Amino acid sequence: MKLDRILPFARILLEKAVRPGDITIDGTMGNGFDTVFLAGLTGADGHVYSFDIQKEAIEATTAKLNAENLQERCTLIHAGHEHLSKYIRKEHSGKVTGAIFNLGYLPGGDKSIITQAETTISAIEQLFELLAPEGIIILVIYHGHPGGSAERDALMDYVENFPQQKAHILRYGFINQANNPPFIVAIEKR
Ligand code: SAM
Repeated sequence: MKLDRILPFARILLEKAVRPGDITIDGTMGNGFDTVFLAGLTGADGHVYSFDIQKEAIEATTAKLNAENLQERCTLIHAGHEHLSKYIRKEHSGKVTGAIFNLGYLPGGDKSIITQAETTISAIEQLFELLAPEGIIILVIYHGHPGGSAERDALMDYVENFPQQKAHILRYGFINQANNPPFIVAIEKR
């Protein structure tokens, strides 16, 4: 298949936005795959802030970072992303060039612990203020699980009404697949 699948496409967008030395955010750390990817983009001179409310996520991500010797360039925060602005160092404000929120539940974990529209939107609003011009926020929206469609609808309502003069926003996803395939929303600050 020549078309990019969802997660590879998310990474292509982040690769375009993030340069070595940059500041990035993983809003939903989970098992750490996105945090490791962002740490590769920012390099040793950049920094990744990663958030999750579950200690299992912190443990899994710590192990991955240690295995690749990437721990020094990442701060793992055991708190909800809705508290994001409290944790980003002042000197990094306005310097965030890439962020990802892989929404839903922790694969292999408790499926009843899911991201919620209200806190996800609060995190996006705080993060938007910290973004550099042309910085990108990626939302990977899963909506097949209980609670997923409510989060999707609230997020789509939020992004569809986001002021055009502040951001370019696109949606990317396959439209003829069964079982509620995930899709991406990318927000680029103007
Ligand atoms: N990015 C992850 C990876 O690379 O493995 C996958 C993330 S998983 C789909 C979603 C994660 O969001 C879960 O680990 C869950 O605990 C976390 N989560 C739920 N509510 C959250 C919140 N308010 N703040 C931060 N993380 C949250």
